[in-house]
Amino acid sequence: MAIFATRIMALRQEREPMAMDLETKALLLSVGTVQLAGTHAGGRASTAGPGAGGQSVFFQSGSHLVRLSVAESSPLRLEGREEGVAIIKDGWEIASGRLAQPLLHCPEQAYITVSERCIFDCKFCAVPKLNGGIKSRDTVLQMVEEAARTGDLRAISLTSGVEVSPQEEAERVAGIVADLKRFGVPVGVSISPFPGVNRILKDAGADEVKYNLECVDRHLFWQVCPGISYQEIMDALQEAVGVFGKNHVFTNIIVGLGETDETLRRSIDELTEMGVIPVLRAVFPHPLRAGEVPMERPSAERLLEMARYLKKALEKNGLDGSAALTGCYRCTGCDLTPGRDL
Ligand code: SF4
Repeated sequence: MAIFATRIMALRQEREPMAMDLETKALLLSVGTVQLAGTHAGGRASTAGPGAGGQSVFFQSGSHLVRLSVAESSPLRLEGREEGVAIIKDGWEIASGRLAQPLLHCPEQAYITVSERCIFDCKFCAVPKLNGGIKSRDTVLQMVEEAARTGDLRAISLTSGVEVSPQEEAERVAGIVADLKRFGVPVGVSISPFPGVNRILKDAGADEVKYNLECVDRHLFWQVCPGISYQEIMDALQEAVGVFGKNHVFTNIIVGLGETDETLRRSIDELTEMGVIPVLRAVFPHPLRAGEVPMERPSAERLLEMARYLKKALEKNGLDGSAALTGCYRCTGCDLTPGRDL
């Protein structure tokens, strides 16, 4: 990790509390985990998201936020300080800050998974293995009501696996979206797309959508997401830009599934030219998926390089990550987010 050598040397001399910069966030994301040193580290663990079934903390430092999964074997350690917390690597404090409290899954958002099960079997995803429950409309409303009572609710994001079919799931989620409009905050939806999905979600009142491509190497896609049509997702994304507008259509791209940088760059170009904003997400090798497909957490350098490429591509196509109302571009915990982090 050559790019961090200078910084670590400076830290050794200074030993001052240090706000996280972009390179340090990239380093933390490349690791993706942290161990908690004793209970004084505090913080409420989040139990949803990319590492479904696990616990995580949100570390806020300077202008950056990072979400790290809690793992005892992590090379990073979170320690309590007189004021706030610090992250330690190889015995050196590399950033200090505070723990941000998630509202529902992440800070300031009610980010809710409606159906915690899925008929599909994407090989990186723990949801089909966990085979969890389905939240009723009343349950979701109650969760959001409680979140709203804190005074911190700024956005609502709904995501869902597929219990029976993408069409039935969209109808279920659309019904909930219509009820959520009463909270007066933007609502984003991420579900499995199909022809007609955009009209259903728009009519229900959704403000933003995210349809995830996940693996942008088309040769690997059928192995990683069997039974799902890459082209159908692209078609839904293309249509969504016309329905929801620029800066309000997103797609997750997982980094670390065996794709090359060249493939990533080509996909970033293609998507941004369509008006779609990609979320570059480091793969989370979930233990429930060990050995199913190659999954390698990207290096800090690779994350930085791709994030910088994405930032330029967004600018070239008149897109702005800071205009996002909901979801991951609003949260920023799991990625280097153009328009927010860089
Ligand atoms: S960036 Fe997205 S997935 Fe990560 S914690 Fe925030 S809302 Fe959840």
